[in-house]
Amino acid sequence: MNPVSEALCYPWQSRMWMRLWPPDRLGHALLFAGPRGIGKRAFATFTAHALLCASGSHDGPCQQCKSCHLTQTGTNPDLFIATPPETGKAIGIEQVRSLSEFMALKPHSCARKVAFVADADALSLNAANALLKILEEPPPDCYLVLVADRPQALPSTLRSRCARFTLGPPAHREALAWLKGQARLDEHSAEAALRFSGGAPLRAQALLAQGDFPGQINAFEEDLETLREEHADVVAVAARWKKAGAGLAVEWLQRRISTLIYERMIGPQATGKARTARLQERAQALDLKTLFRFSDVLSEAARLVGQPVDELLLLEDLLVHWIQLGRQRTI
Ligand SMILES: [Zn+2]
Repeated sequence: MNPVSEALCYPWQSRMWMRLWPPDRLGHALLFAGPRGIGKRAFATFTAHALLCASGSHDGPCQQCKSCHLTQTGTNPDLFIATPPETGKAIGIEQVRSLSEFMALKPHSCARKVAFVADADALSLNAANALLKILEEPPPDCYLVLVADRPQALPSTLRSRCARFTLGPPAHREALAWLKGQARLDEHSAEAALRFSGGAPLRAQALLAQGDFPGQINAFEEDLETLREEHADVVAVAARWKKAGAGLAVEWLQRRISTLIYERMIGPQATGKARTARLQERAQALDLKTLFRFSDVLSEAARLVGQPVDELLLLEDLLVHWIQLGRQRTI
């Protein structure tokens, strides 16, 4: 069994850690929830490793004891990890049955056993119900650590049996300082990535690792502008967007349309950029319902990205849809 993530307590999580440790106050099931990109899984892993560590230290896993060594090498028999078999697939009943068998045995070499369920929101209903049965009579010295981006996807009966730790993004200044400390970044790039990530530092870090993030955002905006022209090359734009990452492109377009809807309702906000002003003008000419419908289309596209679909075709469809919105003028 391999560790699912780095075990880390980021600076913005230290207060949460102080509240969480020591484990005797925790109960048998811990649910770590919060948005993507804030280090939630790393923190949950840090907690799981600390539960297994022989030191019981407030500083987390000691990385020196036998338990820590086994955990680091992915061979700790007292750690069970359940993950979806593939991205987008559910964690099925079979995995929870294996987890139940694991928990029924006494700890092998550590004082405790830990079952770690990454992406708990991907548990199938049957799997979640089977997990609930385990929690109704939790074996002694066993801890269940769950991580979920969308805890509301878990049955309320399961959620209510867990001690819940909701992690959020750090304060903007702290996130920015951390991000800039990770690489030699200029303020503008770090700010742009952080803003796009909703303040989630790890997500911002991942975006910046892909290259010139502000430049990419500018390129998306330019491409959208070219689609105003009569003979716009949709195929070429879709190909560029796929190369930049279909997920990023769809997310950017979702945010762009959300801003346009907002401005359609309250009036365009001055940015001083001619291109932005032209886009705003176009949005003002569109019916609000039409924009909302396009927003729904984008939500569906965002759901499909990453699944086995032809992303190029998906992007082409979105861009054609956007062009047609302007021509319909269905107001
Ligand atoms: Zn240790």
